[in-house]
Amino acid sequence: VIRITGLHKSFGSTEVLKGIDLEVERGEVLCIIGASGSGKSTLLRCVNLLETPTSGSIVVSGHEMTDPDVDIDAARRGIGMVFQQFNLFANLNVLGNLTIAQRRALGRSQEEAERIARENLARVGLADRESANPAQLSGGQQQRVAIARSLSMQPAVMLFDEPTSALDPELVGDVLDVMRGLAAEGMTMLVVTHEIQFAREIADRVLFVDQGVITEIGPPEDVIGNPKEPRTREFLSRVL
Ligand code: ATP
Ligand code: MG
Repeated sequence: VIRITGLHKSFGSTEVLKGIDLEVERGEVLCIIGASGSGKSTLLRCVNLLETPTSGSIVVSGHEMTDPDVDIDAARRGIGMVFQQFNLFANLNVLGNLTIAQRRALGRSQEEAERIARENLARVGLADRESANPAQLSGGQQQRVAIARSLSMQPAVMLFDEPTSALDPELVGDVLDVMRGLAAEGMTMLVVTHEIQFAREIADRVLFVDQGVITEIGPPEDVIGNPKEPRTREFLSRVL
């Protein structure tokens, strides 16, 4: 469902991604690990063109993202993204946060948007909070609302960039549980995470990035459990 070929990304004279080749299958959970500044967020952001690749090709659900003629709005609609910061609309309640993009970008009726919103609030365990304002919710609840908002667009692929990094430790578990549920349902997910044990448990494959290059990719038992590359070993010894 995702095919990345020869992806390079530079900011000015700094080359951040140095030739990434990667295929992700439908239903696969791929966790991306690596040191700070190695290019994990940039890689994820290139997938939905929040960053414009310098060169290379990215195809997502049949949309050639890097084609100048691509209908970028249509292509992005199939890609959900959840960030470290939840970015909820503070002036809308939870239900409003989940319906606005469905109405504006997908043209759904209020009734249908609300039905889909409620399904997804139930999925993240917040069915009873639809009338709350974001400020009344804990960070973990806000992040689950952000996930439900993305899911309401019914994307083919979900991208997560350190979704639990901004949370108090006691709130991390609920968000990880929601992600476990999505993985079990067969959602295709790319997850940048520092939660190595979680990656080990949830990932079909783990990708280790070092200075803009994929140095190791494979099943978690290998990449986390028995890394071949000295770089991966060194990184894991620092974070585990
Ligand atoms: P972290 O674990 O800290 O989130 P990361 O692996 O996600 O790190 P990126 O955010 O992808 O790393 O950044 C990779 C490199 O690209 C860094 O050196 C960063 O300073 C640089 N970079 C990222 N975005 C920009 C930008 N918009 N302009 C200039 N440089 C950038
Ligand atoms: Mg990052």
